[in-house]
Amino acid sequence: MPNLISSVLQLKCPKCREGDLFCNKSSYQYKGFFDMPKKCTKCGQDFEIETGFYYGAMYVSYALTIAITVAVFVALSVLNLFSIGIFLITDLIALLLALPYVFRVSRSIWIALMIKYDKNAIQHKHEHQAS
Ligand SMILES: [Zn+2]
Repeated sequence: MPNLISSVLQLKCPKCREGDLFCNKSSYQYKGFFDMPKKCTKCGQDFEIETGFYYGAMYVSYALTIAITVAVFVALSVLNLFSIGIFLITDLIALLLALPYVFRVSRSIWIALMIKYDKNAIQHKHEHQAS
């Protein structure tokens, strides 16, 4: 069984943990960057739960942005490299590099908070289609 953390980080469907949340697997290609399938290709879970569902993901990405900033601050302090100028530049670069992934993983975390894992999700879909 794929675990919660790795399936969230790999941007998988929260219900079956096998289908992909995004059409284009690479977070660093511009084409189709925002595109998500309407439903999970594996288990049929709806990814557009309601209009504006992903607005809540903004709070998640805000929290992640703060976490990255804190991590940069701690890393520079530990390495004894801290100065305000180096901190601002390093933080800016780190945030820009992380931005595409932060955007996607925020949605992944957000939907995982709302939908429970169902280890029989894919099987259920097939049963449903057969009947
Ligand atoms: Zn699924």
